Amino acid sequence: MRSIKWLAFGVAVGALFVAERLRPLRVRREPGVERVARNLAIGLLAAATTAACELPIVAPAAKLVERRRIGVLQWLRLPRAPRIVLGFLLLDYTLYLWHWLNHRVPFLWRYHAVHHIDLDLDSTTGLRFHFGELALAAGFRAAQVLLLGVDRDTLRLWQQMLLLSVVFHHSNLELPIEVERGLVRLVVTPRMHGIHHSMRPDETDSNYSSLLSWWDRLHRSLRLNVPQSAVTIGVDGFLRRDAVTLERSLTLPFRPDGPAVLH
Ligand SMILES: [Zn+2]
Repeated sequence: MRSIKWLAFGVAVGALFVAERLRPLRVRREPGVERVARNLAIGLLAAATTAACELPIVAPAAKLVERRRIGVLQWLRLPRAPRIVLGFLLLDYTLYLWHWLNHRVPFLWRYHAVHHIDLDLDSTTGLRFHFGELALAAGFRAAQVLLLGVDRDTLRLWQQMLLLSVVFHHSNLELPIEVERGLVRLVVTPRMHGIHHSMRPDETDSNYSSLLSWWDRLHRSLRLNVPQSAVTIGVDGFLRRDAVTLERSLTLPFRPDGPAVLH
C-alpha cells in the first residue's frame, strides 16, 4: 500500500513537471537541467533528513499520544471523525504559525532562505528545503503532535495531503484564472504562493499558508492582487546565478554573509 502511494505521488509530480513546462505561468530565469539537478540534490538530502528524524522523533511522539492519551484532542475525548477533522485543521493552522516564524526569527530564516533563493519557482522548488530546516521542522512536528494530541492516522493523512499541496502550489503551471479563483478559496494555489516567493519584502510577508488558504484570511495576510508578470522570484542580494549554486545554497545558513535581509 505504501509503495503504491509513493508510486502515485511520483506519477503526480512527474505529470506536474511536464505540465508546468508545457503551460508555464512565469518566465524562467534559469532554464536547463542544472537548476533542476541542484534542487533534486537538495531535496534528496532533505528527504533523507526527514526520514532520519521522523522515525526516532515524530513517530514515537504520535505513539505516545495514543498510548497515554496526551494532548488537547485526547483530553476532549471526541468521537473519531471530529477528532480527525479538528486534528487536521490544527496541524495545518500551527504550520502556518511555524512558517511565519521561519520568516521572523533570524536563526530560522537562515535555513528557510535556502528555499526562497531559488531564482525560479516550480515543482522542484517544492522539494528544495535545506536539511537543517527539515531537522528543525521535525522537532516542531513532534511538539505539534504532543501538544495537540494528534494520532498517527490523522498525522499521516495531513502529511500526505500537505506533500501533494506543497508540490502543487510551488509549480509553475498556468491554470485558467477562473479555476485558480475557485481553488484559492480552499487551498494554496501556484499564483498565491508565487507572491510569497517575491523578492519584495512586502509581498513575501503574505500567503504563509501551506495547504488550506484559510489561515491567511484569518490573519489578514492574504495577498492575491499581484500579477505573476510583476513578481521577481528570489531574495534580494541573492539574485545572481553564482549566489545560488549547490555549494552556496547548502552552506548559506552557516556563512557570515548569509541572508542579511530578514523578511
Ligand atoms: Zn516562506
